[in-house]
Amino acid sequence: MSRQTRTQQTSDFDDVDAAVANPNRTVLELDDVSKDYGHEVAVENLSLGVKDGELLTLLGPSGCGKTTTLRMIAGLERPSDGQISIADEVIADGSSFRKPEERNVGIVFQDYALFPHLTVAENIAFGLTEMEEDAVAERVDELLELVDLSAHHDKMPSQLSGGQQQRVALARSLAPEPDVLLLDEPFSNLDVRLRVEMREEVRKILKRAGVTAISVTHDQEEALSISDRVAIMNDGTIAQIGDPAEVFENPESRFVASFLGQASFLSARVTNDRIETGLGSFNVELLNGPVEAYNGAMVDVLVRPDDLQAMPTNESKADGYVVHRQYNGPSFVYRVELHSGDVVHCMHNHVETFEPGQPVEVDLVADHDLAWYPTE
Ligand code: ATP
Repeated sequence: MSRQTRTQQTSDFDDVDAAVANPNRTVLELDDVSKDYGHEVAVENLSLGVKDGELLTLLGPSGCGKTTTLRMIAGLERPSDGQISIADEVIADGSSFRKPEERNVGIVFQDYALFPHLTVAENIAFGLTEMEEDAVAERVDELLELVDLSAHHDKMPSQLSGGQQQRVALARSLAPEPDVLLLDEPFSNLDVRLRVEMREEVRKILKRAGVTAISVTHDQEEALSISDRVAIMNDGTIAQIGDPAEVFENPESRFVASFLGQASFLSARVTNDRIETGLGSFNVELLNGPVEAYNGAMVDVLVRPDDLQAMPTNESKADGYVVHRQYNGPSFVYRVELHSGDVVHCMHNHVETFEPGQPVEVDLVADHDLAWYPTE
């Protein structure tokens, strides 16, 4: 995309997404990429494509290969196998490898890595070595406006808050108009309140800039809230990729279900058009997808805390009893052990206080289909 087009976008768009040059064009492509360190396989046959202007987040537990994937895209690691292309050019494969400075890739590091002895404007201008002085000044002003820091042009990084420093780092990485921007745990240095605020802010900035971006995190809430698509990684591979609602509501495996939010599994026997569970009998249509092939068999039904409500009752009517109460401020999450042996979680308003040991009836209040998995 030309600088001219980007400049127009920054001034024309506020909360709306920028119209990217070609939203169907794949800007970054990883094809069967692997990376091993001796016997340690960090990434295994990973393939993915990121479209122009898209924000994809790699999400997964510690050691699943997120950082290694990011470092291979940046050129800081060489793949052991497979091919990486950016803007239709191969930048790494079995026979070729472009160094980081030969790739048009921007990186925002966890600690922002701002130059402490340079002003905000000088930090942003740092990578613009091939532009005329006037053009640099214009580009810096444009970026300061984009990240809403025009008033801080001459300040030193130490005079800025954490959130402001992050916006400078973002502006500096966007300045040379990278084909792809990489964000390595971009919110990990911020306190919880600022983190939530900056998620929205960073997404807005990336969208206004129209840049193609990959972010890495192990924070599922962050991934779900900022991304166009999320790739959940496990053991060096992608367990599932899709838009945030799709992966959260229809996790394809127990791993994905458990990684994205609190998950409990209700054991259920499928009997024709019913399922029999520790909470009673339900129409089989409660489950998403066809289940006929499992008639007579046991399946595990995914239930999240907001799908269930516990009601205090007496022993004879109870489905189980409260074994733990977790206070989250606005809500309580009760862990309930059912007589069937399943353990489930129920989310309640902060004023609904039950004591551990309380016998409860548990109601399934979900107003959506439930994901399920064949019992292993
Ligand atoms: P985290 O969230 O903790 O940063 P991650 O998902 O980013 O984890 P990676 O840093 O990509 O995971 O590591 C993936 C695997 O590769 C891990 O088992 C790690 O120990 C291993 N690994 C990463 N870098 C190296 C290295 N330079 N030498 C040897 N093993 C490495």
